Amino acid sequence: MPIIELTASLMMILSQGSSIGDDSQPPRPNIIFIFTDDHCTQALGAYGSRMNTTPNLDRIATEGMRFDNCFVTNGICAPSRAVVLTGLHSHLNGQRVNGPAFDGAQVTLPKLLRESGYQTAIVGKWHLRSAPTGFDHHDVLIGQGPYYNPTMIRNGTRHAHVGYTTDIITDKAIKFMSRRDTDRPFMLMYQHKAPHRNWQPGPDHLDMYADETMPEPDTLLDDYSGRGSASTRQTMTIARDLSRHDLKLDPPRNLTEEQLERWNAAYGPRNELFEQRQLEGEDLVRWKYQRYVKDYLRCVASVDDNIGRILDYLDQEGLSGNTVVIYSSDQGWYLGEHGWYDKRWMYEESLRTPLLVRWPGVVDPGSSSDDLCQNLDFAPTILDMAGLEPPASMQGESLVPILEGDSPDDWRDSIYYHYYENPGAHTVPRHEGVRNSRYKLIHFYRIGEWELYDLDRDPDEMRNVHGDPAYSDVLVEMKLELQRLRQFYRLPPLADDDPFPQLDEEAKSPRSRQTLEQDQR
Ligand code: CA
Repeated sequence: MPIIELTASLMMILSQGSSIGDDSQPPRPNIIFIFTDDHCTQALGAYGSRMNTTPNLDRIATEGMRFDNCFVTNGICAPSRAVVLTGLHSHLNGQRVNGPAFDGAQVTLPKLLRESGYQTAIVGKWHLRSAPTGFDHHDVLIGQGPYYNPTMIRNGTRHAHVGYTTDIITDKAIKFMSRRDTDRPFMLMYQHKAPHRNWQPGPDHLDMYADETMPEPDTLLDDYSGRGSASTRQTMTIARDLSRHDLKLDPPRNLTEEQLERWNAAYGPRNELFEQRQLEGEDLVRWKYQRYVKDYLRCVASVDDNIGRILDYLDQEGLSGNTVVIYSSDQGWYLGEHGWYDKRWMYEESLRTPLLVRWPGVVDPGSSSDDLCQNLDFAPTILDMAGLEPPASMQGESLVPILEGDSPDDWRDSIYYHYYENPGAHTVPRHEGVRNSRYKLIHFYRIGEWELYDLDRDPDEMRNVHGDPAYSDVLVEMKLELQRLRQFYRLPPLADDDPFPQLDEEAKSPRSRQTLEQDQR
């Protein structure tokens, strides 16, 4: 960075920052962790989207760093959130599947920040059933929360709202910042429900893309040949598994009269045309794809608009210079690749998650990294940003050296993944696996199948080379690496690692009956 720019950034930090303790130290940065639900890199401009633009998210990338190889450890909502809070893999933080209440008694990122003098807040989607711990302020959706007119729990009390949830969550994030204690730095987790199923667009975006045709992925009509049986067992196809509700052939049930009128004005004529056309076969799949993907992108558009409001607020208040802005999602997503919606798989589209970090004065604007990172790293990274030593018990690594442009020579060269939720929605078999910069080995251990992919030659993962003699050496290396990672991350034997007996015990215990609302009373 040129000296003049660096000096300007330092001046901004010194003039705008809030600090505690030693005045000779630079102030600790504020941190805004922006988290969406199911937003994949294929629908983000900075990652080269073919379908939509995201000017405000792109601004975080052009003013900061884009991580091109950030992966999750367990691609589903609640487990991913637990990993972010704890810096631990699912088998150690206890949240292997959606459903059971998160154990909020354990060491978490917000607790450590709060103890060190940060104001901590979470607004928006929480999704962990137990009451949030470690936050000075929380204002969260109940469970998944609706797209319109949410009831939310603010510091233990329920409040009903009328409006679009993405806008409301942003109003609350700005309100928290405007009322914060300006003598201390803050860490705000600003977490959207969008663009989670079933993708209900906001009132301003109901007609967006109406006259456009979105490009289809090459694998929309995938027949799953060339792979094992796992991909044929799922129930997440655009062709068969989307409901009338998902496809907006029936309107949402919780709209106000005015909202419903606007909704029907947008979808009514399009639905009439669809009913008249009597589509079948591949034509029907293609129509469903267009309807689905446009609604998803409309939800992303609202997220992007609202992130713009946050960035503008930081500018207006003179906070941008000393506020780290992090953007990520709880995992990736399928926008028709392999014929799917949803996530869960260790295949690329859902394994990869966006990660953008703007940190003025530290991160080179417009930079990128292809180091292998995981959501496991988020808690240690944020602690490091705040000048705190991450606890040795956390399994992630701080990304701060990478953000400073100095990737460690001994950075990890493979990542571990484990998906547990079966039986469960969309019937994806349990699997674990290892991915390095070129190969991916997946073990569907309950059905006794392995898959090996050469991502350089087969980026869409269409040809399982597990049985190909040309890859026998690679297979041995990848199996050894999987065993090494199992030991390194202290995985129990597969036979003992079943989340469902635990869920049953949980369901009987008084602890798990304490839902979020009950905890608040
Ligand atoms: Ca999710």
